Amino acid sequence: MAEARLEVKLLAGTPNAIPLIYAAFRQCYSPGFVGDLWPRLMQGEISPEKQAGFIAKVLESGHDSPVEHVSYSFAVQGISRALTHQLVRHRIASYSQQSQRYVDESDFEYVLPPAIARIPQAREKFERFMLEAGRAYRELKAILQEHDRGNKAGEDARFVLPQASESKIVVTMNCRSLLHFFELRCCRRAQWEIRKMAWKMLKILKDELPVIFHHAGPRCERLGYCPEGERFTCGHKPLRTPAASA
Ligand SMILES: Cc1cc2nc3c(=O)[nH]c(=O)nc-3n(C[C@H](O)[C@H](O)[C@H](O)COP(=O)(O)OP(=O)(O)OC[C@H]3O[C@@H](n4cnc5c(N)ncnc54)[C@H](O)[C@@H]3O)c2cc1C
Repeated sequence: MAEARLEVKLLAGTPNAIPLIYAAFRQCYSPGFVGDLWPRLMQGEISPEKQAGFIAKVLESGHDSPVEHVSYSFAVQGISRALTHQLVRHRIASYSQQSQRYVDESDFEYVLPPAIARIPQAREKFERFMLEAGRAYRELKAILQEHDRGNKAGEDARFVLPQASESKIVVTMNCRSLLHFFELRCCRRAQWEIRKMAWKMLKILKDELPVIFHHAGPRCERLGYCPEGERFTCGHKPLRTPAASA
C-alpha cells in the first residue's frame, strides 16, 4: 500500500502533423487536389514555417476541423479512479484503462490529495483507511475464492476499493478534442488532480506541436474573460462584461 506518483508519457502522435493539417486546410480553399500537393509538401517545397503561419491564421477564424486529422496518444499512471471517472466523460476520445477485474489489487497504490497530506491528523486517518481497504479486499477475495468464485473473486472484491486507488490509462484524442479538454481541465475551476494531469499533457504538446498548442489552456486565455461567473471565478481574468456578452 503506497502512494502513487503521476506520470504522463506521450506514446505516439500522427506523423507529418503540420503538412497534414496544412493539406486539410488547403483542400478547403483551393480548386486543386491536395493529393497532388502532398508529394511536394513531403519534399519540403513549402517550408514548415510557411505552413505553420498559414495554419495559425486560418485557425484564428474559428475554422477548427482540419486539426481533427492529427491525434496524440498518452499513457498515464499514478492517477486515481476519481480522476479517470472524470476523464472518460470526454466522449470524443479513445481509452484503454487497466482492469480491476483482471489485475490483482491486493497491494493497490493510492493518490493522496495534497490538502489531506498537509494535515497530519487527516493524513493519518486517510492512510489507515487505505490499509483497511486493502485488507478487506484481500480477505474478501480469499473468502470468495474458497466459495468457488475462482479467478472471478477479484471482480467482486474490488467493490471495496476506494476512489483514491491508483489507475493506469491510455488516452488518445485528436487536436480539436485536446484543445477543448485543456479549456475545461486546465482551468482552476477543474478538480486539482485532473488539472495537474491536463497541464502535464499540454506542456508536452506545446513542445510537440506549438502551432496548435502554443496558446492552448483554460478557456479564459482564448476568451480574454472568465466565463465561470462570480461564484466560481479564480480572478485570473476579469468576469464577462455586458459588452463582452452582447
Ligand atoms: C469544472 C467541471 C465540473 C463538472 N461537474 C460535473 C458534475 O457535477 N456532474 C457531471 O455529470 N459532470 C460534470 N462535469 C463534466 C462535464 O459535464 C462534461 O461531461 C465533461 O467536461 C466532458 O465535456 P464535453 O462533453 O464538452 O466533452 P466531450 O464529451 O469530449 O465532447 C466534446 C464536445 O462534443 C460535443 N458533443 C459530444 N457529445 C455530444 C452530444 N451527445 N450531444 C451534443 N454535443 C455533443 C459537445 O460540443 C462537447 O463539448 C464537470 C466538468 C467540469 C470541467
